[in-house]
Amino acid sequence: MSLLRDLYQEVILDHSKSPRNFSQLSDANRKAEGYNPLCGDKVTVYLKVNEGVVENVSFKGAGCAISTASASLMTLAVKGKDLAETEELFKGFHELVTGKAGEGSELGELMVFQGVSEFPVRVKCATLAWHTLQAALEKGEATISTE
Ligand code: ZN
Repeated sequence: MSLLRDLYQEVILDHSKSPRNFSQLSDANRKAEGYNPLCGDKVTVYLKVNEGVVENVSFKGAGCAISTASASLMTLAVKGKDLAETEELFKGFHELVTGKAGEGSELGELMVFQGVSEFPVRVKCATLAWHTLQAALEKGEATISTE
C-alpha cells in the first residue's frame, strides 16, 4: 500500500511540475473559469467540442500541486471521449475523491487521486478542473466558484 502511495505521489508531482495540455486552445469553442477560494486555485478550461465529442482540451491556471495535477490528468482522460463518457468519468472521479468509489472503477490513471478522500479540504482542489469542465460543457462559457 505504501509503495502504491509513493507511486501515486510521484505521478501527481510529475503532472504538477510539468502539466500536460497546459496552453490556451486557439480554436476552442467552449471555455470556463473556475476558482477555489479555500486554497486559491484558479483554472481556465478550454474545449473544442465537435458533434458531441471532446476533440481537444487544454487548461491554464495557477494552483496547488493537486489542482494542477488533476487538471493535467483530466485533459488526458477526456480527450477523444464523448459527452456521456466524460460525464461518467467525472462521476467516477468525484466518487473516488470523496471515498465512495466502488470496485472496478474504470478510472485508469485518475486512480492516483484516491488518497485525496482522506483529506476533505483537498477534495475541492482535485475536483475544481472537473467542475470547470462541466460548466464549459453545459454553458459554453462560464465562471464558477467552488464556494
Ligand atoms: Zn488547492
